[in-house]
Amino acid sequence: MMEEREIIQRLKEKGYVLSMPRIAILRYVLTHRTHHTAESIFRALKEEYPNISMATVYNTLKLLTKEGVVQQVMIDENKVIYDSNTYFHPHFKCRVCGKIEDLQLPFNFQVPEEVDGKKIEDVHIYLYGICEDCRRKLGV
Ligand SMILES: [Zn+2]
Ligand SMILES: [Zn+2]
Repeated sequence: MMEEREIIQRLKEKGYVLSMPRIAILRYVLTHRTHHTAESIFRALKEEYPNISMATVYNTLKLLTKEGVVQQVMIDENKVIYDSNTYFHPHFKCRVCGKIEDLQLPFNFQVPEEVDGKKIEDVHIYLYGICEDCRRKLGV
């Protein structure tokens, strides 16, 4: 994974203007390698950066997605999740409590570089079901 300084350097070379809130968002996603939403990042940073806005969070996440620093996980139809773990990994969503987790497949899956003459750039695997906690509570 890329280091903060390296990423900032690269973004500057590409002509992005990196304001303090933008750098704070970048630092936050790099130090919290997990799932985020625009709202959760906004909530986490607004106290320390009172002039941060949702618009800044959205446009920074858009540019970080474009530059491959985070990846969008579209497992939930109601919200976009930004994952700062950009290595390929499947996601699971519990249909009862809505929680979204990383998942380890019970077999080895390698993202193919090419299939049938098509160059593969992106693979997403989303699994839906009922999590352990909800199964226990519901007895299913
Ligand atoms: Zn659940
Ligand atoms: Zn994930």
